[in-house]
Amino acid sequence: MNYEIVIGLEVHTELSTKRKIFCNCTTQFGGEPNTHVCEICSGMPGTLPVLNKKVVEYAIRTGIATNCDITTNNKFDRKNYFYPDLPKAYQISQLYFPICRNGHIDIIGKDGEEKQVRIHEIHMEEDAGKLIHDDWEDCTLVDYNRCGVPLLEIVSEPDMRSAEEVIDYLTKLRSILQYTGVSDCKMQEGSLRADVNLSVREMGSKEFGTRTEMKNMNSFKAIARAIEYEAQRQIDIIEEGGKVVQETRRWDDANGESYAMRSKEDAQDYKYFPEPDLPPIIIGKEWIESVKNNLPELKDAKKKRYIEQLGLPEYDTGLITDSIHLVRLFEKTSEICKKPKIAANWILGELLMRLNESGKTPEDIDFDDSSLGKIIVMVEEGKISRDTGKKVFKKVFEENVDPEKYVAENNLGLVSDTATLKPVIEDVIAQNEKSVNEYKGGKQQALQYLIGQCMRALRGKAPAQEVQKILKELLDK
Ligand SMILES: [Zn+2]
Repeated sequence: MNYEIVIGLEVHTELSTKRKIFCNCTTQFGGEPNTHVCEICSGMPGTLPVLNKKVVEYAIRTGIATNCDITTNNKFDRKNYFYPDLPKAYQISQLYFPICRNGHIDIIGKDGEEKQVRIHEIHMEEDAGKLIHDDWEDCTLVDYNRCGVPLLEIVSEPDMRSAEEVIDYLTKLRSILQYTGVSDCKMQEGSLRADVNLSVREMGSKEFGTRTEMKNMNSFKAIARAIEYEAQRQIDIIEEGGKVVQETRRWDDANGESYAMRSKEDAQDYKYFPEPDLPPIIIGKEWIESVKNNLPELKDAKKKRYIEQLGLPEYDTGLITDSIHLVRLFEKTSEICKKPKIAANWILGELLMRLNESGKTPEDIDFDDSSLGKIIVMVEEGKISRDTGKKVFKKVFEENVDPEKYVAENNLGLVSDTATLKPVIEDVIAQNEKSVNEYKGGKQQALQYLIGQCMRALRGKAPAQEVQKILKELLDK
């Protein structure tokens, strides 16, 4: 029998607001355990949450960028469940009136045609803390730093039919979240994670099969592998005459298999009720309009502009716009050196090579974002040679040195003033009578030789063009 895989995703993304959703604590990743907490986010009785307006703005931005309707009358609800990383024993979320509904993201479907993945809803909620198992003491510790970090949950309809479609959808979604500045989507830090709902059915069937859910997946590779495995597992059960059980499963990427965690809960198991501590949020039309008008340039628009206005090749543009981190560096660098094509060449050449060599990705770039621009300016103005520029960039990449200071301190600058160059060149002419005569006799190669001698005498610290100019002037006198 032929089977069709049906997949829907619930994606959680941590927002890059500076403050948590209901208190003033920082959202910064890491930090000593339980240092980014206060009475509110640690769930002390008698405290009251105050909504961070930025979270609403980011949710509206995401909704607009994913073609959603924005709900003007919003409410928060309590989702009740006990878990040690959730000190209040309930999570403030949105069940009845989510902020965004009925959107879609366009992907390339299985057949190569463009297709829409519908977005059922996007809602705002707070993140829970983290449980850390301590093998040494054989106990579990709780770190509440993540408690109250704002999240958006983006729920798709079950519109995807293969692992490739899922990865395409996630790639698009990540690009939207990054370009709108809503989230950094650092998957290894858990700021983008997906729950994969998957079922299989006979090809052509209209009814859905029983689905399982794989929770908190934070790597594209693992998601693709888990989908292949889970689809086959369900097909095998059906082929053997069995029934798929609705449950939550955990994907074990190291062993390449999934196992049952618990039976899947439905909304009613959480006994949701309206959050009494927060008033309704009324979003005016003007606010939505102003967010729409100030929406940052998204990937496709940027790509088009780079090609049409900056004259960058399409292939290069694709490589840069694939990562918001490369985009940011490219724009900063172009702004400083005023030569976008040259900036792009340095990024795609030197930078990508360094990233590759060190096994890093663009999001790991941690040098000052003005450094590359400064290096290019020095090269283009003839203050340092291209080779020196590359060496300085290596130093910037590895140690985040200030390029101008580094060049000055290590005396790497080129000498181009005639007063300094002339005596050295005159000296070379005096010592190479034979070559000088050959040149005067019409032998062009002799000139190259003399330039080489000058560069050697100057230890490569002069622009070759300038040396050639002075040399010719002296010879042709
Ligand atoms: Zn707090």
